[in-house]
Amino acid sequence: MQGVVFLGDRRLELREFPDPTPGPGEVVLEIKASGMCGSDLKFYRAPPGAAQAALGLGGSAEPDIAGHEPCGVVAAVGPGVDEAQARVGMRAMNHHYTGCGHCPYCRVGWSQLCKAGFTVYGVTGHGGHARYLKAPARTMVPLPEALSFVTGAAISCGTGTAYNALRRMNLSGRDTLAIFGQGPVGLSATQLAAAMGARVFALDIGAERRALAEQFGAERVLDPAAADPVEALKALTHGEGVDQALDCSGAPEARVQAVRATRTWGTVCYVGEGGEVTLDVSPDLLRRQVTLIGSWTFSSLHQAECARFVADRGIDVERLFTHRWRLEQAEEAYRLFDTQTTGKGVFLME
Ligand SMILES: [Zn+2]
Ligand SMILES: [Zn+2]
Repeated sequence: MQGVVFLGDRRLELREFPDPTPGPGEVVLEIKASGMCGSDLKFYRAPPGAAQAALGLGGSAEPDIAGHEPCGVVAAVGPGVDEAQARVGMRAMNHHYTGCGHCPYCRVGWSQLCKAGFTVYGVTGHGGHARYLKAPARTMVPLPEALSFVTGAAISCGTGTAYNALRRMNLSGRDTLAIFGQGPVGLSATQLAAAMGARVFALDIGAERRALAEQFGAERVLDPAAADPVEALKALTHGEGVDQALDCSGAPEARVQAVRATRTWGTVCYVGEGGEVTLDVSPDLLRRQVTLIGSWTFSSLHQAECARFVADRGIDVERLFTHRWRLEQAEEAYRLFDTQTTGKGVFLME
């Protein structure tokens, strides 16, 4: 089979790999849809291996197949896999991490927190930008019948990450929420938070992304480059500031603005990866009793919960995708995604 590998410095290639065979406890997932995630750009852009090292993920000398939003159908099952866990023909998403499998984190589906080390499929192990993906059966998350493979791909990182952040923030329908950055995670957060009943103010410097946010249920969209977003958000909330703010941009100035636009007793959550932030701790946090949360992806159980939420509420996750590609178009696909002006892209295998 062929798989997309990132060579570093914005270069990639389609490389030949043997078709995988499942070992004990493993399955092979035949990929139907493999999403492109904003965090892939870190690995795409960086010198070889540098982004993995910067995020503390380790990795092998040879590049692995990219893509950490794999979704498809179980094609083969190895010895010792229980029918209830995975069977041939099962529609499934992959929770794209594996750890030791028995520590307190792994046992509740948070294998990316495993202290014994963990693999990230698509980053430090072969991922979904190929015909097949081999992974332990326990990493397979059933895809509800009502959801398409493309929707499952989004839930496998971007949409799932947004869902888990909102869950950790205990977002309620009473809340006003500012979402900084309307890339695939921010747009998902806009869509989900609107479905949860919150008033959403969506911020992005890109006009195309602001237009998508409006379609996805944001009550107001703001361009942080045009006017001070802290003042604008206070003006929309009786001078108080928003109840909650979510940063999906990872931009240092947006992180500060998210904190300063949040009202006293409010909650701020960071999901944008990498980089730094400088806060004036007493006025920004302590004196206003602000809660600051860091949230990184989701457990396999919350991935399943997110899929149920999306199915039950009839959320049109497919609208996140502005581009559908074939593997042979990977260079063009990542060159366009690299502009960070579009919605999400996905590779379809058939
Ligand atoms: Zn991701
Ligand atoms: Zn573990």
